[in-house]
Amino acid sequence: MKNLDKLSSRGISRRKFLQLIAAATAALNLPNAVIPRASKAVEAALGKPPVIWLEGMDCAGCTESLLATLNPSAAEVVLDMLSIRYHETIMAGSGEVAEQAYQETLRGNYILVVEGAIPSQEDRYCIVGGKPFRKTVLEAAQKAQAIIAVGSCATDGAGIPGACEVNAVGVRELLKANGINTPVINLPSCPVKPATLLGTIIYYLTYKKIPPLDTQGRPVVFYGKLLHDNCPRRGQFEAGNFLRDWNDPQQKDYCLLLKGCKGPKTYTDCAQVWWNDNANFCINAGSPCSGCSEAGFYKNFSPLYAKQENFQLPGAGPVNADKAGKIIGAVAAAGVGIHLGASALSGRLGKKDEKQEEV
Ligand code: SF4
Ligand code: SF4
Repeated sequence: MKNLDKLSSRGISRRKFLQLIAAATAALNLPNAVIPRASKAVEAALGKPPVIWLEGMDCAGCTESLLATLNPSAAEVVLDMLSIRYHETIMAGSGEVAEQAYQETLRGNYILVVEGAIPSQEDRYCIVGGKPFRKTVLEAAQKAQAIIAVGSCATDGAGIPGACEVNAVGVRELLKANGINTPVINLPSCPVKPATLLGTIIYYLTYKKIPPLDTQGRPVVFYGKLLHDNCPRRGQFEAGNFLRDWNDPQQKDYCLLLKGCKGPKTYTDCAQVWWNDNANFCINAGSPCSGCSEAGFYKNFSPLYAKQENFQLPGAGPVNADKAGKIIGAVAAAGVGIHLGASALSGRLGKKDEKQEEV
């Protein structure tokens, strides 16, 4: 059976396939001219390379996120694009059959995807199939051609498990501590965005190398821009219109800064590539960004929906969000310097560009 026939047998037409590739290359900021090359690379890779998908201390939310997409089904494309040999949540086999599939795939040349955090000191917190999860990750990392950590838990151990006393770490930290230097592609957020995972895989298949990463191991193309700079409510921020009362219809489109929005210090493409097949994203739906794509989420970003305290404004020292709002509102009214204020609020002041590195 030809590779594209495999997709059509699952209800994915060539047109849909090309639409998906076009969407993924657009999300990667690649020119349209790359689409034929990317389509060819993905088509050639259908059915291979094999994938081992491990789950540790997680809620399976990243898997759910992938499976819950709509048209064309990202999950179907990923499942057909790659050959998932081992995935505890979705595989039909179990017990010895599953273990055998895992062992056979371990022979080499597979892509390793890890979902969930890893207890770094006491193995008893995560045992899968009778084996400490920590040892399984180290074993599977040995011969992987590429390693992708999906979701906040796997990227730095700081998701929900990071808020517990289990000394959770992410894949990169675990491998480094054990002398394994294979680069890990970190795709944080809670859960991982399917478009980000698909785009990363398509990039890898097209260029035969991992995408340029920032210092947190995140592909720059998805995590290189500050959410605040692209936010649909940015005009309200500039005008000093901050939502203070959820019950006031007049304020419904106002900036969510005073409700705890972490957009000024969160790097993500959420404002450009929305969730659920571009249906919506947090801020557009009226929820402040909780910073889930950043290292240290959730612990360092809670309370998620309360006011952020102690912004640093030049000349004003530490100020809370209320005071920052008043200052910014006054500056906006005067019509000067607002962008500088926004940069100061984000705490970045252009540092991001210096941090990027190519692997
Ligand atoms: S603070 Fe949040 S809601 Fe306001 S403009 Fe920035 S990202 Fe958007
Ligand atoms: S908008 Fe913020 S909280 Fe929402 S998914 Fe994106 S990074 Fe996470």
